[in-house]
Amino acid sequence: MQRFDARQLKKIAVYTSGGDAPGMNAAIRAVTRSAIAAKLEVVGVIGGYCGMIDNEFMPLNLSSMANIIQRGGTMLKTGRAPEFHQADVRAKAAQHLRATGAEAAVCIGGDGSFTGAHFLWQEHKFPVIGVPGTIDNDIAGTDSTIGFDTAVNIALEAIDRIRDTAASHDRLFIVEVMGRDSGFIATEVGIAGGAEEIFIPENPVTVDQAIERIKRGMSRGKKSSILVAAEGHKPGRAYDLAESIRKKTGFDAKVCILGHIQRGGSPTAADRILASRMGAGAVEALRRGECDAMIGIVAGQIVTVPFDDVIGVKKKVATELVNLVRSLSI
Ligand code: ADP
Repeated sequence: MQRFDARQLKKIAVYTSGGDAPGMNAAIRAVTRSAIAAKLEVVGVIGGYCGMIDNEFMPLNLSSMANIIQRGGTMLKTGRAPEFHQADVRAKAAQHLRATGAEAAVCIGGDGSFTGAHFLWQEHKFPVIGVPGTIDNDIAGTDSTIGFDTAVNIALEAIDRIRDTAASHDRLFIVEVMGRDSGFIATEVGIAGGAEEIFIPENPVTVDQAIERIKRGMSRGKKSSILVAAEGHKPGRAYDLAESIRKKTGFDAKVCILGHIQRGGSPTAADRILASRMGAGAVEALRRGECDAMIGIVAGQIVTVPFDDVIGVKKKVATELVNLVRSLSI
């Protein structure tokens, strides 16, 4: 973690960046309201680094935060700005940011967004604190990220519905959930939804192993099964799994890809509370003069973790949880 002189801090910026996650609005609200309570002005960057590059900002006040805590998405918009990989573009963005009068910022996003924020400090001594907002929960240094709980609950609700059909028609279902490089959603949904098997990047399972589990269930009279698959690098992977199972066994596996519905919708209470605590924690950290770091939650406590310990470090699903899916679906 780095330090800057926060004694003269009068104005901060806040932005959301990368993939949107339910609870980002609650975080923006917490940043804005706790900053105003500490007599700081707040400016919002529209569309993450895109807005910084294109000079698009909006003043934020107490009333602009009304009625947003329950909304999914992000009222500041988010985006991806590949140009931000170029140092000259970052210099222009830093200049625009300073011209608003902001002396520090809160970045709500994931690993990529934090990398951009790290450069703002390294190259321009612009202090930023990160708040982890991603449905994937794969960020190191924090037990949870904003949006994960909501995504798990949305996927779980879908699985419960699918289970009704699976049970009524004696069917095998493969439900594909989000998670490119990470199996957190699939694992938690697998446990909570009583799945027979999960396919996640961290702990590869072969189709043969899954078939063996399905057959074992059938031998004791089980007629329907649900498998949960993290999408991996190619959404639609569940179709490949279904085809493979059909070729090997003749079983007709139905596929349901949940896709973007997992990102939308109203955040759960847990995500609103997490976002509120982290947003307020980010402002406190800036007021203490901390920067180049992320706010995390570890064992229920808000902590500040240096970006050096977060960026590029993948959090892995605990083996205990993966094993639990299996041990409870015998
Ligand atoms: P997330 O923050 O959810 O991981 P991305 O990886 O898409 O999402 O990153 C969001 C944005 O952060 C990118 O569009 C880009 O503007 C910026 N960014 C990501 N990686 C870098 C990098 N290596 N250098 C500079 N900026 C980056």
